[in-house]
Amino acid sequence: MSRLQAAVGPSRRGFVGRLRSLLAGGAVDEAAWDAAEETLIAADVGPALAARLVVAARRRGELAPGEAIRTELLALLLPGDRVWRPMPAVAGQPQPVLVIGVNGTGKTTTIAKLAGRLRGEGATVLLAAADTFRAAAIDQLRAWAERLELPIVAHAPGADPGAVVFDALDAASARGVDVVIADTAGRLHTKRDLMDELAKIRRVIERRLPGSRPDVLLVLDATTGQNGLHQARVFHESVGVSGIIVTKLDSSSRAGIVFAIEDELHLPVLFLGIGEAIDDLEPFDPDAFVAALFEDRG
Ligand code: GDP
Repeated sequence: MSRLQAAVGPSRRGFVGRLRSLLAGGAVDEAAWDAAEETLIAADVGPALAARLVVAARRRGELAPGEAIRTELLALLLPGDRVWRPMPAVAGQPQPVLVIGVNGTGKTTTIAKLAGRLRGEGATVLLAAADTFRAAAIDQLRAWAERLELPIVAHAPGADPGAVVFDALDAASARGVDVVIADTAGRLHTKRDLMDELAKIRRVIERRLPGSRPDVLLVLDATTGQNGLHQARVFHESVGVSGIIVTKLDSSSRAGIVFAIEDELHLPVLFLGIGEAIDDLEPFDPDAFVAALFEDRG
C-alpha cells in the first residue's frame, strides 16, 4: 500500500466505502442517491457541489453508479500532474516563496518539508522567519533550520516582517541561494492587518527584486473542513494565492475538502501533508489521489 493510500485510509474506509456500498450494483434508487449526496456533504465536499456531483453522476448512464461518482470527482480536479518548482522570474536571483495560512494549520512544518524536498532536488534554500508576531514561530523555524542545516534570516520578535524578507533576499542573493521560503503571520481575525502586512511584504519583494513573481502558497488544515475553505477564500481575495497545500490529510476522514477547494477556489492543490515527519509531503496527483480513495491496493 502506498503512503498516500495509507494516509487516506480513514476517508477510503469511511465516506468512500459508504458511497460504494450505497451505489453498488446497477439499479440505485432515489433514496440511495440522496444518501450518497448526504455522504458527500458529510465528507466536506460541500452541499452545492455534492448536489451537482450527484446530478452529473446520474446522467452518466453508461457507467455503473459507483464508477460514475468516481469519474465525476476526478473530472472536478484540474487535470494532470502538477509539478511545483519555484522558478525565478529574474534570472540569477532567488525565487521568493511566501507561505501563508492560519496558525496551527501546519505552516512551519510544511515549510521544513518543502525546504527538505527542494534541497533533495538540488536547489539551495534559505528560510525567512517573517512571522515576527510570535516569538514561538521564530524559535520553531530556527529549530527546523538547525535540524536541516539550512541558513535562516530571523529578527527579534516584533520586528518588521518586510525587513526580514528584505534581509533574507539580500542574504540569498549574496550567497547565490535559489529559493527563499518565508514564514508569515497567520492571524485571521484582523483581516485588514493581515492584508496590509502581506501586501507590504509583496512591495518589499518588488523593491528588492523588481519583476519577480513570488509563489504564494496557502496552507490549509484538512481537519478544519469547510471552515478552512472560508479561510482560503479570505486569503485568496486579500493577497492572491498561487497554490494550496492541504495538511493533516492523514488525521482526517473527510478528504472531500480537497475537491471543494479546487472547485470553489479554482486554485491547484500542489501538495498533501500526510504526517508529521519531514518527508510526509506528497506532490498532488489527481489520478493517484482518486485511486487512493477508491482502491484498496495499488
Ligand atoms: P503552524 O502553527 O501553522 O506553523 O503549525 P505547525 O507547523 O507548528 O504544526 C502544528 C501541528 O500540526 C504540529 O504538531 C505538526 O507536527 C502537525 N502537522 C503538520 N502537518 C501535518 C500533517 O500533514 N499531518 C499530521 N498528522 N500532522 C501535521
